[in-house]
Amino acid sequence: MYAAEFNYLRASSLAEAHRLLAANPGAKLLAGGHSLIPLLKLRLAAPPAVIDIGRIAELRGIARRGDDLRIGALTTHAEIAASAEVRKSAAALAEAAAGVGDPAVRNRGTIGGNVAHADPASDLPTVLVALEGAVVAAGPKGERTIPAAEFFTGVMTTALRDHEIVAAVLVPMATRGVGSAYTKFAHPASRYAVVGAAALVAVNKGTCAEVRVAVGGLVPHARRASAVERALSGQPAEAASFAAAAARVRDDLGSDVLGDIFASAEYRAAMAPVYVKRALAAAAARAGLA
Ligand SMILES: Cc1cc2nc3c(=O)[nH]c(=O)nc-3n(C[C@H](O)[C@H](O)[C@H](O)COP(=O)(O)OP(=O)(O)OC[C@H]3O[C@@H](n4cnc5c(N)ncnc54)[C@H](O)[C@@H]3O)c2cc1C
Repeated sequence: MYAAEFNYLRASSLAEAHRLLAANPGAKLLAGGHSLIPLLKLRLAAPPAVIDIGRIAELRGIARRGDDLRIGALTTHAEIAASAEVRKSAAALAEAAAGVGDPAVRNRGTIGGNVAHADPASDLPTVLVALEGAVVAAGPKGERTIPAAEFFTGVMTTALRDHEIVAAVLVPMATRGVGSAYTKFAHPASRYAVVGAAALVAVNKGTCAEVRVAVGGLVPHARRASAVERALSGQPAEAASFAAAAARVRDDLGSDVLGDIFASAEYRAAMAPVYVKRALAAAAARAGLA
């Protein structure tokens, strides 16, 4: 199908993007186009104008900012997966980015578009929630930082306000003795997460001193799995503890587990402990290596 007609506009700076948003009510931003273009072609969206932000230099790049990595909104999944800095300091994020879609999607799709689109089956939101990352939203009057746990609010809905643009994502850098990992049951066609699990584990003298877990893919938006976290904190970093804690994820899922023709809600809920356990084990192993 062809998209409905729209005006194509291109911004060369954030300031220009804000001017164009103000002058074109109902316009949509275009970054990598890997979620927006399918929506336009299916006519699920028909904005009067599309504002291409894909060449705004200030939205690119990965840099250290204090204890965080600041990843520009236009950084592609492939760039994140290949970044030595991300692999070292936020292994789960590099892992999630490496598993997004296929090479074409990873070379065009951006972290800013991924979080703004907030598809429940996306991988990066789950990691950002587990790592206690944040989203930097740039409005016409300046920036604000929104914790990832507050940014994702529902199916394809976020805390972004009208005319705010995702400028960057902040990810705390892992310190010594802390490891993180992301595992997913990928849809065999799209690779989107049917069930996704991200974990961060700090290991001290063989004990799980700090545990953070988030699940995605099977719930309306990525969420922390606090029952799992409580069950593993203070326990030995070993397979039996990971399995026992992961089994608690059912307490974190609630009654809003998503199902579709590929995988029912019951099936996804049954798979969740498996992927949580794998993420915990991989994160703890990395903590030992850190
Ligand atoms: C075949 C296929 C397989 C995929 N598989 C996966 C997968 O396995 N895992 C996964 O996580 N994702 C997957 N995706 C989605 C992919 O990751 C996209 O990169 C992502 O969803 C959107 O990023 P984008 O840069 O393409 O955004 P676009 O498509 O350009 O935009 C998406 C939405 O975000 C808005 N937007 C974009 N940038 C900004 C910004 N900076 N500030 C505010 N709003 C913005 C747009 O207006 C639009 O509403 C897949 C996509 C396809 C087509």
